[in-house]
Amino acid sequence: MILIIAEKPDMGRKIATALGGFKQEQGYLKSEHYYITWAFGHLVSLAEPEDYEERFKMWNFDDLPIVPKQFRLVPNKDTQKQLSLIKKLALSSSRIINCTDAGREGEAIFRYIYEYLELRLPFQRLWISSLTKEAITQGFRNLKDGSEYDNLYKAARSRSTSDWLIGMNGTRAFTTKFGGSKNVISIGRVQTPVLAMIYDRHQEITMFKSRTYYTVVVELQQQQVNYSGTLHIDEPITEKLTVDKIAQTVQGKIAKTISYESKEALEKPPLLYDLGLLQTEANKKFGYTAKQTADIAQQLYEQLEAISYPRTTSNYVAADNLAVMHEIFDLFKNSNYSSFTINGDKCYVNPENKNLCRPDKIEDHHAIFPTEKIPHDLTKDQENIYSLIVKRFLTHFYPPAKYKLHRILSIVDQFEFKTNIKELISLGWKIINEEKNNNKNTEDKGDKSTEDYDLRSNFAFNEDELAVCTKANSKTIETKPPGYYTEGSLIDAMKKAGKHITNAELKSEMSYIQLGTPATRTEIIENLKRKQYIIVDGKKLKPTDKGNTLVEMLRNLGLNVLTSPEMTAKWEQRLSEIAVGSASDIAFSQVVVKFTEKIISCLKNGTSTISQAKFMNTIGNCPKCKNQSIIAERFAYLCTSTECDFKINSMQYGKELTSKNISDLLTSGKTNTISFKNKSGKVYKAKLMLDAASMNGKLTLEFVNKNIKR
Ligand SMILES: [Zn+2]
Repeated sequence: MILIIAEKPDMGRKIATALGGFKQEQGYLKSEHYYITWAFGHLVSLAEPEDYEERFKMWNFDDLPIVPKQFRLVPNKDTQKQLSLIKKLALSSSRIINCTDAGREGEAIFRYIYEYLELRLPFQRLWISSLTKEAITQGFRNLKDGSEYDNLYKAARSRSTSDWLIGMNGTRAFTTKFGGSKNVISIGRVQTPVLAMIYDRHQEITMFKSRTYYTVVVELQQQQVNYSGTLHIDEPITEKLTVDKIAQTVQGKIAKTISYESKEALEKPPLLYDLGLLQTEANKKFGYTAKQTADIAQQLYEQLEAISYPRTTSNYVAADNLAVMHEIFDLFKNSNYSSFTINGDKCYVNPENKNLCRPDKIEDHHAIFPTEKIPHDLTKDQENIYSLIVKRFLTHFYPPAKYKLHRILSIVDQFEFKTNIKELISLGWKIINEEKNNNKNTEDKGDKSTEDYDLRSNFAFNEDELAVCTKANSKTIETKPPGYYTEGSLIDAMKKAGKHITNAELKSEMSYIQLGTPATRTEIIENLKRKQYIIVDGKKLKPTDKGNTLVEMLRNLGLNVLTSPEMTAKWEQRLSEIAVGSASDIAFSQVVVKFTEKIISCLKNGTSTISQAKFMNTIGNCPKCKNQSIIAERFAYLCTSTECDFKINSMQYGKELTSKNISDLLTSGKTNTISFKNKSGKVYKAKLMLDAASMNGKLTLEFVNKNIKR
């Protein structure tokens, strides 16, 4: 028999359908030649410190750093039965086919099981980029030798052991030194530099000093066209009076063109999606968090088989994907998307198209595109994400959009004015994305620095003709700080982490380096929220007091490396090299151990004046014991005193309270009016009141509109 191990039951059933002839058994499927069984995600993980030595159960600074000589694996308690079943099936099989997710994490899931169970069977690897029946059948015809992925496993293992060393030791060190049992201060190899990025942006915004200067905008009129111009001057003008005078002078005068150039410009379709780009755009367009987008994309891939592998890092396809893309294009002609295929042409999807086909830029998986299985009955969220992916796919079947760029320099009296016009010649692929342009996102200002062009559908300019200056107005310009990160722009910034590196020498070498992987970025942002290091204010990501303190403290102690993307990006680079066999995992682990030791010695010897209290997100004073503070924890707001049990749960009557609500409760005993939903979905409004007599943290409702009952 041959044992097939899938990552999840769902995947196991898909394989059974593709291969055919299976019967259901207890926890597995069986055919004449195969067993199919599965993991439930991770069945085996790295052991906790207390599994090495009992005394590590107590967090004690003097025990640090904890560096296991050999990392041990332990089974996860909830799934031990499944693990025993895998062992039993393996014992009656002659080989294994590893069918976990085709990526670093999936490889680790299988290898940890294999190693923990001490299996010795030969194994092969199913490596596919979509889960349709065709892709699975094709993949089974092209099974790889398991050893081809040995380096990928080394990279996966190196990643988890380095995260373990930094995370376990850093978190224990900071918590024992500055936190407490109610206030864990977690440190993470990727998490902490990302927090620092959010901190630095926040600092930049709060320290920003806006400057004001002035310019003149004129309206110029030729017989056929009118266009506006902006005063062209070397030094910005800071006196309003100066520009007012210029405006008065040029008003009504004749304008003469002193230089004019025009050139054609092509705008190619934007690249196909990788997960990061999809998360960035879905956040802009629909406000989805990174996690929501990743989850929806996973449903489209796994349950609906409607898109290819979503956790890819590539925005390109290979030449052997093109034939399938042509077939899929034809299928969309008979779908809800048919109107977007009418003027499309398969000739644009060809191996010479470097905007699309770059085999050298594909690591494990090609960019996300729809499969030949067009889904029906999608939820609203699935539809949103699916349509982004389909539309992006279809744009590549169109030519570039064509523009003519006009640059005009005019002189009125003695003053020069410049004009930039972008004239649309043909829409090309933009036929598909027209509606998207109306939905312009106004956040993320400051991230874009392209020169401003006025967009026109036609522009019959004559450079030899004089124009009249019909209007002249002075205009105030204020410099603006950069915007806060959103989840979308943060994902984008993590992908471009190399660009944040200040060291010039490293910068050129590492400009392409990324923080995290598509699979981990989502979790890192969620973690920062969960651990109360950041809050989401509208779409903006802002650091909390605790987040601010941690970054300042690390820099204070000389642990700047933990707050810069540099080190972790370098490590990420090394992990990629380990995955392709060009770097040694042993040398890497020595570097990580050294760094772990450095964290501990910095904390041991370093002094910092930052007090423990600053590590907490204090909301207000405890109303019960009166002398301690209330802090935000994951599911509740509680008193910092170990003797006091005052606590308010974050979820109240189906609504998650904000720290503003809690602060209102602490100061005035009631919140502002909040909208709640009763069980049948009806909305009612009420204020929450804190019971001042019992001080048990229970909240009661005070209805605002007496007519509506719960
Ligand atoms: Zn208290």
